[in-house]
Amino acid sequence: MLNTITNDISTADQQTHSPKLWMPERVLFTPAALNEPWGQQIFARVQALNLPIEELRHNRLTGLRGESDRETYSIAKRTLAVVTAPPSHFKLTPIPPSADWQFHLAEGCPAHCQYCYLAGSLSGPPVIRVFANLPQILENLAAYESPELVTTYEVSCYTDPLSIEHLTGSLAECIRYFGTRSNAHLRWVSKFNEVNDLLSLPHNGHTHCRMSVNATSIALKFEGGTASVASRLRALRSLADNGYPVGLVIAPIMPIDDWQMHYSQLFDSISSALDINCNLTFELISHRFTPGSKEVLQTWYPRSQLDMDEAKRSVKRNKFGGIKYIYNTDIMKTMKCFFENEIQKRFPKAKILYWT
Ligand code: SF4
Repeated sequence: MLNTITNDISTADQQTHSPKLWMPERVLFTPAALNEPWGQQIFARVQALNLPIEELRHNRLTGLRGESDRETYSIAKRTLAVVTAPPSHFKLTPIPPSADWQFHLAEGCPAHCQYCYLAGSLSGPPVIRVFANLPQILENLAAYESPELVTTYEVSCYTDPLSIEHLTGSLAECIRYFGTRSNAHLRWVSKFNEVNDLLSLPHNGHTHCRMSVNATSIALKFEGGTASVASRLRALRSLADNGYPVGLVIAPIMPIDDWQMHYSQLFDSISSALDINCNLTFELISHRFTPGSKEVLQTWYPRSQLDMDEAKRSVKRNKFGGIKYIYNTDIMKTMKCFFENEIQKRFPKAKILYWT
């Protein structure tokens, strides 16, 4: 067994709690962001919440480092910066196997997941940056649409879009935009649960909402600041009941002690929360890390018990020479087989989009 998770903290309370909405301790606006009508809309929301606003004199964010890496992390995770997306964000990149293209309404996330995939993707202090030029970002997407096939766009690669929705309204704006497109669909995923403002939007079935879930013991141990798995499932049920296509991302899958039992319990919770005959999708992602993400995560979470022992892993190389540490072939095959069987047995109409 590759890791040990104890169950002793899984009290009923912890399994059902929801975090309060994240309220940053500082909200910074750049001059460029304040020039944007969408930036003004965010300003009004933040002001209505009585959050402390600082209007910067320059468009560069500076002075966000503390005296240690730990302090820098702590300051950053309490800071929201409203900025404009740079020109590089208008040249989209593909994101297989999740979607055809990715675009970004923000970078960074207020939660504290000890395996966070953003650790290897974003550089600098993990301040939560949201983009005030959203209308231009959305307008740019049409150029990437295929005339014949439905083109899919993922908006959760650099942020958890639901975690900041109460401060920005940006996910709702994306959903409204995709509701008007005949050949383009939006995809987003979250570990949060506050979906009430999304339920009655004119989504037209063009937004695929997914919740990222895991065995309760893993979520309790490694996913600080997120909503409980039970409340994420309830949120997904509400979205499905309001006509949205829905799915689950089970990630990161880890072969902890008694992993079959822990993941069977997760499937039990999914069965009781959702209508098993709905058109559910599953995306299955085993845990992996890179040398870069490990280094950053060890700075952010120095006491974490997350297993990142390279000696127990296989190396996977990408076409640019980068490496990832994944589980070895035997355990990957065993886990893949288990998940596929469980899903086929319990959710006959569900579609597994990929295992990785
Ligand atoms: S919710 Fe997602 S983006 Fe946010 S800290 Fe956790 S893994 Fe990272």
